[in-house]
Amino acid sequence: MGAASSLETRKRQLQYLQAMGIQAWDLRNSAVKPLGVEQDVAEVAGMDFSSGELPGQSAVSGFDWETLQAGVEACTLCGLHASRTRTVFGVGKRNADWLLIGEAPGRDEDQQGEPFVGRAGQLLNAMLQAIGLHREQVYIANILKCRPPDNRDPGPEEIVCCEPYLMRQIELIQPRVIVALGRIAAQNLLNTETPIGKLRGRVHQFRDTGIPLIATYHPAYLLRSPLEKRKTWQDLQLAVETVQEQV
Ligand code: URA
Repeated sequence: MGAASSLETRKRQLQYLQAMGIQAWDLRNSAVKPLGVEQDVAEVAGMDFSSGELPGQSAVSGFDWETLQAGVEACTLCGLHASRTRTVFGVGKRNADWLLIGEAPGRDEDQQGEPFVGRAGQLLNAMLQAIGLHREQVYIANILKCRPPDNRDPGPEEIVCCEPYLMRQIELIQPRVIVALGRIAAQNLLNTETPIGKLRGRVHQFRDTGIPLIATYHPAYLLRSPLEKRKTWQDLQLAVETVQEQV
């Protein structure tokens, strides 16, 4: 690495550390049924739910972004539609190299209709900035498009209902790397119950797509456990290297 680029890297690292509140010295050591399928969903998204079975991936295959988003906005497949203020489809560059996937909208996201806009979102923005990325250059989504009441964990049936939307987003984006933020995202995307502490720190493959997937801690967890931020920094570095290897 040349002197200029190593200086640049160090500057970014320091920005990151500062934004995340890490001491600089750390671095040196360094068959559920749909619950409520309504006519309007089928109409808006062109889905056929007449069999009463869960739609699955084929229901949204071939959807373009607009149709997919309209389908999500009209979705009543699981009970969460009843308590949501807004659906949270996802945000960012639709052909991004980086796809970051969190768990589910919280209160702020439910109000604003955008993922990661609360305190955890601010930390996520700082993490991205530290690796030279702006929020607009990546795509950010969640396992669920609607907020679970009281921020409880997503239920299995909610995840099953919502998954086709996210899978179609992944197909459309074709990212070079997926970063799973937190246990819920990592375990569901990797179909495992392995704890997040064991999933992080290495490169997985997202199902049979060949897309590399890196799991790391959720920004909300990092706000509560700042000592773990250093590990997330390492995971993000691994993600940077993984993208660079493909360019
Ligand atoms: N936590 C998440 O997992 N996603 C959000 O969008 C906000 C907080």
